[in-house]
Amino acid sequence: MLEIRPNCEHCNKALPNDSDEAMICSYECTFCTSCVDTVLHNVCPNCGGGFEKRPTRPVNCLTGNCVEKHPVGTRVVYKPINKNAFKEILKEFTNIEPRKR
Ligand SMILES: [Zn+2]
Ligand SMILES: [Zn+2]
Repeated sequence: MLEIRPNCEHCNKALPNDSDEAMICSYECTFCTSCVDTVLHNVCPNCGGGFEKRPTRPVNCLTGNCVEKHPVGTRVVYKPINKNAFKEILKEFTNIEPRKR
């Protein structure tokens, strides 16, 4: 189950459950769309994978699965990238499309 982390790992922008700007990699590293587009260029600094839009956990509890039963995460991961270290990662992954990395 996704943690639904509360913020962007690079710029610390708030990314609540209903945000349209939350992007995640397969490990759930979480960044805002602006950082993914302009800083990361769709390369996760932690794993090299690409990002997809994070889904929203429903508030409607009809199915029994909802935010009330499975609350969103509160653990803040805030680790701005090291631009020099990231340059190497970017160079390695940027020309390979995410599904082939
Ligand atoms: Zn950000
Ligand atoms: Zn990642």
